[in-house]
Amino acid sequence: MKLWLPYPNPPAVDFITPLTDLIVMSWRVYQDIHHVINECGRQELSWLGKVVKTDEGRRSIYYISAIRLLEQRSSSVHTRLDPAAIAQVAHEWIMEEGGKDNPCRFWGHTHPGSCTEPSSQDDAQMQHFIHGKFTPPFYIRGIFSKGSQHYHGEFTLYDYQRGIKIRHMPWEVEDRTRQQKWTRRIARRVRTS
Ligand SMILES: [Zn+2]
Repeated sequence: MKLWLPYPNPPAVDFITPLTDLIVMSWRVYQDIHHVINECGRQELSWLGKVVKTDEGRRSIYYISAIRLLEQRSSSVHTRLDPAAIAQVAHEWIMEEGGKDNPCRFWGHTHPGSCTEPSSQDDAQMQHFIHGKFTPPFYIRGIFSKGSQHYHGEFTLYDYQRGIKIRHMPWEVEDRTRQQKWTRRIARRVRTS
């Protein structure tokens, strides 16, 4: 006998405090993505990116330091990266980061129209990235469109440790290399009196 049943809604996650996790990209990455959107014409183009996550207290920063356009098949409705090219760039970036974690954790692609909504293929592609392998702790998907007046970008964070994805992630542009250069320069040349 069933006296009452759950309301047939799927589980949902809401934030009760503002989300402090942040995607940060270097100025160079920001410019590089701009150039790809500029040059993509009416095609979907894909690239991968190198991401390092740092935890500051309860806050996580996802820093995108480089992107790479790979060999791919592309049309106005789909983009498919060459698996051998994915393996090659992942190997290269793992070596650069000291041979431990795989920092290849960002897939970006353009949409020829003005829409940054993911297609069902885009969702399937995310499954493909983790299929048959060790599931990464996280992955970032970015979709970029030309829009009518401005280019737009939308980032989704796939947090596989918490088993959730966060759409419309906040992001910022920052050039850490230049910032560090100026921090060092000031420390070297300025004496406080
Ligand atoms: Zn897409």
